[in-house]
Amino acid sequence: MDPVIVPRNMHIISRQNIDRDALKVLYRLLNHGYLAYLVGGSVRDLLLNRRPKDFDVVTDARPQAIRSLFRNAFLIGRRFRLVHIRFSDKVIETSTFRQYPQDMNTDIDEEADPSDDLLMTRENAFGTPEEDACRRDFTVNALFYNIADFSVIDYVGGLHDLEARILRSIGDPCIRFQEDPVRMIRAVRIAARIDFAICPDVLNAIQAYRHQILRCAPARNLEELLQLLRHNAAEASIRMLHSTGLMETILPEILPQWDNPEKAAAAGKILHFLDMAPRQSFPRTPSVMLAALFHHQILEATENLKSGEDLRQRVESVIEPFAKRFHLPRRYFDRITQLCIGQRGFQPKKHKRFRPQALLKRNFFPETLALASITLPLNDDLWLDQRNTWKSRILSADMDAEEKDAMLRILRMNPKGRKRRKRKPRNRNRDGAA
Ligand code: ATP
Ligand code: MG
Repeated sequence: MDPVIVPRNMHIISRQNIDRDALKVLYRLLNHGYLAYLVGGSVRDLLLNRRPKDFDVVTDARPQAIRSLFRNAFLIGRRFRLVHIRFSDKVIETSTFRQYPQDMNTDIDEEADPSDDLLMTRENAFGTPEEDACRRDFTVNALFYNIADFSVIDYVGGLHDLEARILRSIGDPCIRFQEDPVRMIRAVRIAARIDFAICPDVLNAIQAYRHQILRCAPARNLEELLQLLRHNAAEASIRMLHSTGLMETILPEILPQWDNPEKAAAAGKILHFLDMAPRQSFPRTPSVMLAALFHHQILEATENLKSGEDLRQRVESVIEPFAKRFHLPRRYFDRITQLCIGQRGFQPKKHKRFRPQALLKRNFFPETLALASITLPLNDDLWLDQRNTWKSRILSADMDAEEKDAMLRILRMNPKGRKRRKRKPRNRNRDGAA
């Protein structure tokens, strides 16, 4: 099939908005006679005039050939080899065009359901640019930007869907989701982040196949879930997870809350505050994000705790089923518990033995503070009071200035958004007649 090719003067992608190191990779491949395309989320986001999160490159050079062109290149992947080209602050993932897998039923995870299924566990062979576009998940993720002539190449109708702001599967979503159920979480993540509608057949396929999600490697599911929370679209993503029915499968613990409009509004606010938190100063760690996601469940499980009852046990009992389902690494599990217990230091009524300066010196305090700064503002007075109290404690603490500054920056953030300066009323007409 002939692709649609949009020349440079008919689209908005400018090299000025492409990462310099990604350009270096593209040009070196091109100068050695290879095809070199930018692909995936970067092309999608550049066409939407958004800043891409990462830049992926695809080429007809074989992995070994790519590696020989870059000193900083590393081959990764057991089945399908990719090349990671490492720069000081990023990796440019560079892969060779590959085919849509023909051979999908071999090599299935032994623990997986042995029934007739499509789960894709075997990676595939090298292919053409067209084949490479067709094996991708959604049409808007399969556009190429060709560094040779700066054109955009579309084999799958992605440009039309970008214009219509629709997330559409490449091929039958029922098949594509059975091959790789993680694509269902990706659908939510991408649609929520770029504010696209999800195509009705994709929504129906999610309804039909959502239970298969738990058959994927838990680490991949966890990574996709964290991606939902990480990129300033946590609120929209979790709302969409709920509306698509995926929440019932992957996060049943928080479903009752999201089914209740009043409680959902409160939970949505916390995620909104997480989205608003500044990128540089707010520690958006997996533990902070997950503790924020489970905030209300933990609060409910720990309120009315009679003295002597074990707070830690209560917190752990809330996150344990989730931790098992996603094989949450122990370090995150322990850290979430510490952060939640640390929240006691932000309540007006303190435990008798509470020592603020001791809490302040724990290595998890910045994350504890971060969690408080997005959950406490649900109650304005409490937040104002605790913010002032902790500010003076931090200022008088015996620690180095840099550490203090990092903490004060978290405290200074205003999760409700920047205050607007009141403008002087403007004369309605320039001649002075109001
Ligand atoms: P983001 O902006 O979050 O990085 P992205 O679409 O670039 O979104 P990546 O995880 O970086 O997502 O993947 C890069 C590209 O690889 C995707 O755009 C898509 O074309 C392809 N891809 C990733 N995961 C899958 C998958 N599970 N099935 C098919 N194609 C995939
Ligand atoms: Mg990407």
